[in-house]
Amino acid sequence: AIDPDAMFKQGFLNDVFNERPEKQVFTRFPPEPNGFLHIGHAKAIAVNFGFARYHGGKCYLRFDDTNPEAEEEVYFTAIEEMVRWLGFEPYKITYSSDNFDKLYELAEKLITLDKAYVCRCGDDEIKLQRGGEKGTSTRYRCKHAEQTVEENIQQFRDMRDGKYKPREAFLRMKQDITDGNPQMWDLAAYRVLDKPHHRTGPKWKIYPTYDFTHCLCDSFEGITHSLCTTEFFLSRTSYEWLNKQLVDFQPIQREYGRLSISGTLLSKRKLKELVEKKYVRGWDDPRLYTLIAVRRRGVPPGAILEFVNELGVTTTNSIIQISRFEQTIRRYLERTVPRLMLVLDPVPVVIEDADEFDGTKVMVPFSPKTPAMGDHKIKFTKTVYIDRSDFREVDSKDYFRLAPGKTVGLLQAPFPIKATSFTKDEATGKVTEIRAVFDRETKKPKTFIQWVAAGEGSGSRKCEVRLHNALFKSENPAAAEGGYLNDINPNSEVVYPDAMIESGFDEIRARAPWPEAAGEDKLGKGGPESVRFQGMRVAYFAMDSDSTDDNIVLNRIVSLKEDKEK
Ligand code: ATP
Ligand code: MG
Ligand code: MG
Repeated sequence: AIDPDAMFKQGFLNDVFNERPEKQVFTRFPPEPNGFLHIGHAKAIAVNFGFARYHGGKCYLRFDDTNPEAEEEVYFTAIEEMVRWLGFEPYKITYSSDNFDKLYELAEKLITLDKAYVCRCGDDEIKLQRGGEKGTSTRYRCKHAEQTVEENIQQFRDMRDGKYKPREAFLRMKQDITDGNPQMWDLAAYRVLDKPHHRTGPKWKIYPTYDFTHCLCDSFEGITHSLCTTEFFLSRTSYEWLNKQLVDFQPIQREYGRLSISGTLLSKRKLKELVEKKYVRGWDDPRLYTLIAVRRRGVPPGAILEFVNELGVTTTNSIIQISRFEQTIRRYLERTVPRLMLVLDPVPVVIEDADEFDGTKVMVPFSPKTPAMGDHKIKFTKTVYIDRSDFREVDSKDYFRLAPGKTVGLLQAPFPIKATSFTKDEATGKVTEIRAVFDRETKKPKTFIQWVAAGEGSGSRKCEVRLHNALFKSENPAAAEGGYLNDINPNSEVVYPDAMIESGFDEIRARAPWPEAAGEDKLGKGGPESVRFQGMRVAYFAMDSDSTDDNIVLNRIVSLKEDKEK
């Protein structure tokens, strides 16, 4: 296992701390509640909450809810749940909207300082003032910038009182249009929006912009290190400019690189289309990279944190391949989850001379590599299920699993077995039953395969297994010919409706999340997805939220090896 605090001990985040080595660190994670969080947000959560935790400080969860047009109640709940799922406890949950009164007063103060004016220019005109389409023509201010403080106060109050329609008037900061940085070209501070807000109701007809709100809320909360992504690099100037005009406490803003995953899409609009057109089972479909989807698929929160930590935090944006993410998950699961026997496509094998062992119990370790995980008992039965792919009707020299006349080991069983004959369904051509005998001579068969005991008393269960593959065929579906819908992999979900799992499943289900896992995966308690295991020789699995008591559905979290992926 790698040091979970590595990213705070050196490099970018360590430098940021050393720029301002506060005794009491305060950070914030400030999502806009306008969508479900995705894997990129997990990095922001790990960075902000982790930084505070590492330095003995505190991190707020602040909903940046200044745009009632895009925000919905469900997202608030889902976001909070994800932060906790990743193992972090917000110091306080706050809302930018809690500060609407205070922000309004500060806007009037800014006007009084002659640092803001009400502009009634249209969008095209404002664009020209800011240097035109390419930003290269001479910048200038409009006549509204010449208004007196009194005129501006009056017009701003008119904005507040609903005397302007949306886009008819803006409060603009009076910054420095000669500065090379576009973030200093008289940014909008307030806009008219005739929309009720989910927290303040119909009270406001004007709403503050991100550029006005964020830095001030950071200051109100005493944020010492305001960590955001690099697209805000130029905003740092306006952030500092505005806080200096209006407030005493000065946070520092520093920018780290975004995390993106290739081969998938994270854009809300595109995900919405996939969901609405039923290409996926919902926003939490295990093939997506929203955090609710990654959770449903069974990825442990600790593996996500390990992934972020492994990539490290720098100022460059990184585009990571899905396979790299899966490699981390695989390594994490290898150490932390128990092993069980599961067959995807069962075929019964009747072991003719196994009567004396029928119904006997065998002790099986949950993980041969981690004895601390303990053992469990499973029943051996005269008829067992093996996977169809482990049998061949015709043997060959370079083949080492079951075939007529060939011996294969059964994991944990009394003896290897040798197939004697098989029965086929005439219509489908499928093998329906294999007959075999114990091979008591062969001590070390070349291969051991997994099996599941048959019959009522065996404790084995039938279950539905869903194997997920990449949802898209290309590495960059957004740029695919004919659009991303044209790039969908037709085999992105393969379902095995009649899989069988051994009785140990009920044990690990009762004990989930697996406590013996080296004490590491205490996170993510509760949900069905916390029932995770390695299906030996098959893949890592977790229980899906579609499961009921009699109908267990399993998702493949990741394959056992990278090359078996597709
Ligand atoms: P999106 O448009 O993808 O939802 P966003 O930037 O609008 O992203 P916010 O809700 O504003 O999302 O995000 C909250 C915080 O998460 C911000 O500080 C933002 O910088 C950070 N964040 C968002 N996406 C990523 C990413 N891909 N990698 C790292 N941090 C991210
Ligand atoms: Mg967002
Ligand atoms: Mg945003």
